[in-house]
Amino acid sequence: MKILVTGGAGFLGSHLCARLLERGHEVIILDNFLTGDKRNLPDPNGGGSYRLVESDVTEPFDIRVDAIFHLASPASPAGYVEHPLETALANSVGTYNALTVAEKYRAKFLMASTSEVYGDPLEHPQREEYWGNANPVGMRSCYEEGKRFAETLTTVFERSHGLDARIVRIFNCYGPHSDPNDGRMVPNFVKQALEGDPITVYGSGEHTRSLCYVSDLVEGLLKAMFTEGTRGRIYNLGSQDEHKVIEYASTIRRLAGSKSPILHVDPKFDDDPKRRRPDISRARLELGWAPVVEMEEGLRNTIEWFRALMSNENR
Ligand code: NAD
Ligand code: UDP
Repeated sequence: MKILVTGGAGFLGSHLCARLLERGHEVIILDNFLTGDKRNLPDPNGGGSYRLVESDVTEPFDIRVDAIFHLASPASPAGYVEHPLETALANSVGTYNALTVAEKYRAKFLMASTSEVYGDPLEHPQREEYWGNANPVGMRSCYEEGKRFAETLTTVFERSHGLDARIVRIFNCYGPHSDPNDGRMVPNFVKQALEGDPITVYGSGEHTRSLCYVSDLVEGLLKAMFTEGTRGRIYNLGSQDEHKVIEYASTIRRLAGSKSPILHVDPKFDDDPKRRRPDISRARLELGWAPVVEMEEGLRNTIEWFRALMSNENR
């Protein structure tokens, strides 16, 4: 199959492209490197065939493909607060452009949405039926509302234009290829632990997240795209292993063998969701999917990847 991955040079997209190449697909990566990195691109000598289109998804494009994974968008709070307009447009205009190409070539389509569509959820764990508690004008709204609109557009193309489309709501992921400077919890804590700097916990650290290792998430993306009967469906993809932020700080510190102090500092962004954990019953039942990588194993892999990256950068 010929498959387009928008945002393929990013954290999740790069792992997805590597898996698609392993499966023998022809891959096209469309990325403008707003938050992605060339070091994430597949090894040209690693086997498989891929093509890079260095372009902005908000510019109309025309590429004949059989399937589109639409991932292009900044994804970290620091990334979208720094690029609010780009984020809102990648998810609105960019999603429209990608859907138009999918419609033209009758390609399968997957919209990479987010748990942020649930806002600061009042329901716990979050089921796909929940409409969310999102602030339309907060600092996160370029992302939250951008993704909510992207879901609306995807649904319109599926219902009214006959497009073979599905939506996945991705919950917090971590692993190699994440941007060390994107301000997210795991990159921050790992970098701080390895450098012996204070580990910055925002507020009390009582907030919770459930973290999904990247290889599990990619498996979920593939199943959502290629399992029979997924057209028009929405799936939460994430881990149910919920912990407090303060627990992640001390686990990462221990696994990194670090003596960094844990420092409580003022929260950086407003509307920080207090609890987040997906209900993944639907993905289990319809896709036969659930995460398998244990938190400590995933964190160890991530710490080793960061260690290697940082030692290369210091050379
Ligand atoms: P990332 O920032 O590492 O990757 C996004 C990629 O999209 C980057 O390579 C960036 O350069 C590219 N991009 C951004 N705007 C673009 C544009 N206008 N045109 C072309 N390329 C553009 O983020 P990620 O963590 O890999 O997230 C990928 C997708 O998954 C995003 O849509 C994000 O919303 C979603 N998601 C991720 C997480 C997570 O925990 N990582 C959680 C929920 C949802
Ligand atoms: N966080 C923190 N210190 C950091 C970075 C993040 O305490 O240096 C907290 C943040 O306030 C949130 C959680 O960790 O409660 C996850 O943040 P992240 O930015 O990874 O993702 P989010 O779930 O907010 O999109």
